[in-house]
Amino acid sequence: MNLGLQSSIYNGLQLKDEIYTTLNQRVNTFDIFFDNWSPSDIPEETYNLLSTIKNNNDLIFTIHLPINFFELSHGEQQEFYAFINYLKPKTITVHFNTLSYDLLKELVNVAHENESILSVENTIPNTHKIYGIDYLGFMIEAKKVLEYSETKNAFSATIDTGHSFVNGISPDFYVKELTKHEIEIATVHLHDNDGTADSHNPLGTGKIDFISFINELKNCNHNPYLIIEHWSDFNKSIEYLENNSLI
Ligand SMILES: [Zn+2]
Repeated sequence: MNLGLQSSIYNGLQLKDEIYTTLNQRVNTFDIFFDNWSPSDIPEETYNLLSTIKNNNDLIFTIHLPINFFELSHGEQQEFYAFINYLKPKTITVHFNTLSYDLLKELVNVAHENESILSVENTIPNTHKIYGIDYLGFMIEAKKVLEYSETKNAFSATIDTGHSFVNGISPDFYVKELTKHEIEIATVHLHDNDGTADSHNPLGTGKIDFISFINELKNCNHNPYLIIEHWSDFNKSIEYLENNSLI
């Protein structure tokens, strides 16, 4: 499986320095999370770095849309579509709980046009703000909504291990259920906690069983981008995965 680091607003680094850091780790993927910022905030120098890395295939890129993407104006959303068109990320993650079926269809089309995959993520709380259904219910319904669309293969899941555990759901459960409903898991967000708060701790420092989860992904023939969604100490998570022979 491909292993990556996500950009983080908590480490005080600029995007270009995060990219250089990632190039020096035993990972091959970089996930750009627009966490309260947008493509227009990227300096030209960093765009040039992104272009060079893309052309040399030094890293695989995935992206994570802003949590408030649903409430951005059409013009603001277009800025992200232009960036997707430029970067051609392998997956595009969006949170499920604010995603209307219309926006879902639009995003799946954008992904399809760019040979990418829309990857819909489980959140805290596990309730959809418009439809009142939970993550699994939304994913099953979304698959039906896209059933007759030629872009349906550009729809998949992002399983966030920490979100799942805080909601009292083992991440293995989602692997089994999504597999049963023939929904691909294209992206995984890796971080640990003790079940009480979404603390984004390094793997192995909380109570989540990553060994069982990653083996379940393998058993069910999923091959997601494993993204370490870190607030600190990402190297501990890489070491945990290596020491337990999970990657
Ligand atoms: Zn996440």
